[in-house]
Amino acid sequence: MGTLSSAAVAAKKSSLTPKAIISQKFGSKASYKVDEVEESFPNECPGLAIRQKGRCLYRCHLQLPELSVVSGTFTRKKDAEQAAAEKAIEMLGIHVKENNPTEEEAWDELVDRLAYLFSSEFLSSGHPLSGHFRAVLKRKGHLNGCIPISVMAMYDAKLTNLCKHINPEVESNPLGITSIILSAAEKLSGSLLPLEDHLSLKRQSPHPPDVLQSVENCESTLLESFEIQAIRIPSSVNETIETLVLNLSSASYYLDVIAEALGVTEASRVQVSRTIGKASSEIRLYFCPKQQLLDQSLEPLEVHRVQLQGSLNVRASYFAGQEVYGDAILASVGYVWKSANLFHEDLSMRTYYRLLINKIPSGVYKLSREAIFVAELPMAFTTRSNWRGFFPREILYTFCRQHRLAEPVFCIRNSSLGTSTDPHGTCKKLKVTEPIEEGKKSPVLAAAGGGESDGLTGDFQCEVKIFSKCQDLILQFLSTKAYKKQTDAVQNAALKVLLWLNLFFSESNISSEKLSSNAKELGIQFYSEYFLKEFNICSLVHDFWMSFATVEDGLLDHKHMKANDDMLENGVFSLNMGGQASGVNPSSGSLVCIGYTSCLVTEGGMKEHLESNEEFEFEMGIGAVVPYIEGILTQLSVGQSACFGAELPPLEFILAAADDSPTTISLLSSGKCSLEHTITLLRVTEPLEDRMEQALFSPPLSKQRVEYALQHIQESHALSMIDFGCGSGSLLDSLLDYPTSLEKIVGVDISQKSLARAAKMLHSKLNSKLDYKVSSNRIKSAVLYDGSITNFDSRLCGFDIGTCLEVIEHMEEQEASLFGDVVLSSFCPRILIISTPNYEYNVILQKSAPQNQEEDPDEKNQSQAYKFRNHDHKFEWTRAQFCDWATDLSRRHNYSVEFSGVGGAGDVEPGFASQIAVFRRKEENPKSVEMAHHCKVIWEWSEGDRSKSAL
Ligand code: SAH
Ligand code: MG
Repeated sequence: MGTLSSAAVAAKKSSLTPKAIISQKFGSKASYKVDEVEESFPNECPGLAIRQKGRCLYRCHLQLPELSVVSGTFTRKKDAEQAAAEKAIEMLGIHVKENNPTEEEAWDELVDRLAYLFSSEFLSSGHPLSGHFRAVLKRKGHLNGCIPISVMAMYDAKLTNLCKHINPEVESNPLGITSIILSAAEKLSGSLLPLEDHLSLKRQSPHPPDVLQSVENCESTLLESFEIQAIRIPSSVNETIETLVLNLSSASYYLDVIAEALGVTEASRVQVSRTIGKASSEIRLYFCPKQQLLDQSLEPLEVHRVQLQGSLNVRASYFAGQEVYGDAILASVGYVWKSANLFHEDLSMRTYYRLLINKIPSGVYKLSREAIFVAELPMAFTTRSNWRGFFPREILYTFCRQHRLAEPVFCIRNSSLGTSTDPHGTCKKLKVTEPIEEGKKSPVLAAAGGGESDGLTGDFQCEVKIFSKCQDLILQFLSTKAYKKQTDAVQNAALKVLLWLNLFFSESNISSEKLSSNAKELGIQFYSEYFLKEFNICSLVHDFWMSFATVEDGLLDHKHMKANDDMLENGVFSLNMGGQASGVNPSSGSLVCIGYTSCLVTEGGMKEHLESNEEFEFEMGIGAVVPYIEGILTQLSVGQSACFGAELPPLEFILAAADDSPTTISLLSSGKCSLEHTITLLRVTEPLEDRMEQALFSPPLSKQRVEYALQHIQESHALSMIDFGCGSGSLLDSLLDYPTSLEKIVGVDISQKSLARAAKMLHSKLNSKLDYKVSSNRIKSAVLYDGSITNFDSRLCGFDIGTCLEVIEHMEEQEASLFGDVVLSSFCPRILIISTPNYEYNVILQKSAPQNQEEDPDEKNQSQAYKFRNHDHKFEWTRAQFCDWATDLSRRHNYSVEFSGVGGAGDVEPGFASQIAVFRRKEENPKSVEMAHHCKVIWEWSEGDRSKSAL
């Protein structure tokens, strides 16, 4: 029956059961299965086939992503489970954090662990390190059975953790581990022998013959040899990175082969990095620092920094996140859990460059979307259902792992509880290893106030902290905004941090002032001393980057290829558009689906395919694609295509996409090159607001708002009208289709893109005399201004009617109030119509809107709060909120106000879909105003223009 091992003792001390530790680490990925087994007693009389019937016992199988274990047999199910968990903890070498052994205990445990690693039992444990122990049995001569200490340290987490306990400094000086392990080995001097150079250890006496036999049997008996392709990264940046072939064989130890390729005698001279890239990969760097031999006369605990010789290999150091000296080899090879055979795979130059760009946040995102030339890390996390690719939180985890930082810590604050009721703050630490799921609230958060918002304002704020491996706080961010959903708070916070980190990586030689000012803008606090300590190598790489590109491929010129003759504003050239216009255009907030192909083209017309995607979906307006692509798309309608040239992105991006980098490199060095994109706009899905406005109301809500405004214009016989926040001019456009008394129309907005569309449309409509509808109006002048409606401009004063439809909710509440004051105290239109969504109506919209099916049903059930209708909305008010706001304004500025709306009915709950306030000025003549201009005239038209263009 099972006995308690040292891991169980350790776990006991920590007050966490083995199962709890496993659950902390693996959550639902750990599955326990308990079998009943019958106790059988050893048969004492071999001649008689008598089996006594025994008690019923239990044995537990624990399946984890990395391994599975089987417990011994126990009389209680519970014990079997704990024993299985305990065994897994032991095998995984999980360091039980809460357990703080004294230094003496740590030494004892270290000695025990070492004894276990060298035991015959360990050889068949399935631990990756056991593969090395088996392989070194095949080494020839005096190296037979010798295992490099660095290998033990790298592949056994438990050993390393114990060393860190004994001396925390080894975290930054891995070579210190060697001297600690040697000292521990001394205590086992009867059974372990150090080699004369003290870099390897071996058993004093060989394993028993039956053990050796079974080791041989468990591997394939065929003598196999195989070649793998690896990458050589020379330490001198003047030398090219290239592929090399390693000839491995089942009759030798692969680290000896790598040692030879690095020009040293044997495996113990080779340093192995931790894995690079995905957590599950076996890609590592191998290098051999020329190091002074450890001085035996030194006290073992005096871990001294061993003098390393050879020059710093900047490129390799950047990869490994540790200092690498001398030439390095990047290879994907190693022993994995529960496999007797050596895992190995080829690495290509493309893999090398993909690993390289995977170190930066935008690179992680691009790779997650398989769209290196098109995707960009978006600037905003709008809704979960619109985001594609890895989520910000996931990217931040990846980033921290890649850079050897501790896992990021997320904290949720529930602001609705208020800090007054909880002087210690309501900040609760989320279990950082578990994804935060909408549906299943973590118990901690549930305790923090039910996690439910009152539905009006967001309650969740998220704080992110990033620590170094040594637990120094590097960076901290607390969102100023509160979100209605935890996920949104977490993802947005992670994204902010990523955007800032990305800035550091994408701009080489960024000044610390710029970093600081950007951090300030985003609300990020970073501790530059620790930050620079951790990212020192990254900045070194920046310094070398230019010389790297120049020397390696002679490509420097191409990175800075300057404006072509026909270069368009956004950096693209030779634009060709084709296909039938369908009239369906993408706009901000739309989900857009494109198909594209990106090629490398030389001036001489040579072309090489780099990347293509049949369907690539993203949200417009949040920077989810490179800016020029979004620019082109606003000019296309569904079904149309565009082909155009663009400047080359940085070299590493090109080579990360290229299938065949030698060809690509030769093309790149053959002359001026550029990218050629061919893009087809396949689909456009309107944002929630537009979709629901179209689907639920007839005529559509937007049309109803226009009609509402029209009615007031006609009733008031207004001569002049101003549309505050006119957008792309939908109201002005529609007005021209009706006969009105209007002679002067003006639109103001801050979106130049929208204004450009408005200008295009108004221009063609006002100038076409043939249009009978247009000719029926009396418009004499029209102006479009670019400027904020919260700022005073005398040209916006004194209109008969002002409209501001579905605009205020796009501003922060403070700004909306500012606008209210400016418009009623200074612009003083005789009538002002303001519309904004009625938040209470969302319950209807979101129950009936067809897109609800796409969404996670848990999300809806969990929260009474409804989404805003459009991701750009900063608030959506209830009727009471809007009424308070408008009533207060009208009183203060001597206006009257009436409430109404469109969509639905005012006297039926929950009121109109769009609520409207109509303000009427009480004074006949408003006070005169001073001249002041801040708006920019974007487009202007007067009646004369029409006759001119008619000629
Ligand atoms: N009134 C239009 C557009 C509504 S969308 C319609 O009903 O179709 C909201 C518009 O408000 C956007 O075009 C946005 O650019 C504009 N906007 C937001 N804040 C603004 C500000 N401070 N000044 C001017 N326009 C603003
Ligand atoms: Mg709106």
